[in-house]
Amino acid sequence: MSLYLKYRPFNFKNLVGQDHAITTLQNALKHNAMTHAYLFSGPRGTGKTSLARIVAKALNCTNLTSDFEPCNECEICDGINNGRLVDLIEIDAASNRGIDEIRELREKIVFAPSQARSKVYIIDEVHMLTKEAFNALLKTLEEPPSHAYFILATTEVHKIPETIISRCQQFNFKRINQSTIVKRLEEIAEQENVKADVEALNLIGKIANGGLRDAIGLFEQMTMDGVVQYEKVAENLGLGGQIHVEQFFQCLLQRKPLKAIEILNQINAQGHSLQQFTTDIIAYLREQMLINLTNSEEVQTVIGFIEIFSDAKIKITQAIIPQLALEIAVVKACNFGTSGNIESPEVKTEAKQVKVEKNVQKPEAVEIKPDKSSESDESAENKEISELDLNEFKENWQRIIDNIETPFVRMSFVDSEPVKFENGTLYLSFNSSTFMDKIANSSNQAVVQKAFETVLGNKINLKLETKKVSLNTVLKKDENVNDSNMAEMAKEVFGN
Ligand SMILES: [Zn+2]
Repeated sequence: MSLYLKYRPFNFKNLVGQDHAITTLQNALKHNAMTHAYLFSGPRGTGKTSLARIVAKALNCTNLTSDFEPCNECEICDGINNGRLVDLIEIDAASNRGIDEIRELREKIVFAPSQARSKVYIIDEVHMLTKEAFNALLKTLEEPPSHAYFILATTEVHKIPETIISRCQQFNFKRINQSTIVKRLEEIAEQENVKADVEALNLIGKIANGGLRDAIGLFEQMTMDGVVQYEKVAENLGLGGQIHVEQFFQCLLQRKPLKAIEILNQINAQGHSLQQFTTDIIAYLREQMLINLTNSEEVQTVIGFIEIFSDAKIKITQAIIPQLALEIAVVKACNFGTSGNIESPEVKTEAKQVKVEKNVQKPEAVEIKPDKSSESDESAENKEISELDLNEFKENWQRIIDNIETPFVRMSFVDSEPVKFENGTLYLSFNSSTFMDKIANSSNQAVVQKAFETVLGNKINLKLETKKVSLNTVLKKDENVNDSNMAEMAKEVFGN
């Protein structure tokens, strides 16, 4: 049995993160004031269907505890826990858009429950119902028999017709915060006798993005020989040092010293060697220098950085606080080439003699054409691709991200932003080529396309590019660097 199923919450008390819904529901149970239709909306993996089953048990349990919890022992509770109770009808609207199921529901709902006090209908992914199915459902919701209860669950509440919403009591499920997820993982680790370091659990919690189910799934995948280790998790998710190095370089170019220092803190806190990181930076800068060889201005900046960090690498070994040497280097690099130039290294002529290695050049753009041969979605609400515009993508961006089902694909996708929509192609700009490469991977493409299809009704032709901050632009933009830098720093420190 998967850990998620094993640790699935079985009563109100052990469902985490949705206190508002739970308090309201338990109060209704207490006062015998349950309504006949509920709508549970919110991100995936936050406990919607788990809570729906707990409600079904609470409505029917023959031995409800004094604090209105299902007993989980009586025949009814047991039947629900094992998926055997015929009076609990679960419909997955995603599997066949629900036409037959809703028809059957309408025919049978009038009959009294066979075992339990009430019939409970859980309709998962309810937004996938067709118009006809919604209409049929609406008729039932308008006059439900007294023995019937409905719990509709969805990640896409705005796709539910207003007429349906108005018939339901709605609970909006929140993303579960990272510390709650980590706490839950710690409990599971203890019970499973897994040795897990807290940084690994934090990383899993972060990637799960508020979804406890994903977090537990990742935890299970990342457990090797009874151990969950930060390095292994980062490695498995493809989050090696490379990402830090790239981010760090971007911070220097964009003159964001505080962000760069934050990365140093992170690396230090994770127990990585600052010395090694400095070596990685210098290697990366060398690569950048070779790529930009034809552009003398860009090369100058990169060489400036190389000298600053080579100097820092020597000083780290002698410094009382090793990190300080790197912090000074960050400040120098962020001021390099500006009017308030702290250090202006001479451009060494040897640089021109360096040979360009062939494998240095990385692909800068990737095009993804969706697989059009797959079944097309005939829903009336779907827009033609030609009707879409960039704003539509921007407005729906968070929803598209939320609908990416694989956590590390979702995490990689967060690195991008939509920048242009032209001739049916959406241009995405990535900060990091590592993340871009992840999305370009063919099996990950399918996961991304599915999210576009869920939200916009269409797969989208994508063009992926890495954000190339032009060194020139950065230099010119920063002529009055001091004031704007201070404002930028303040923003970083105090939040936007
Ligand atoms: Zn019971």
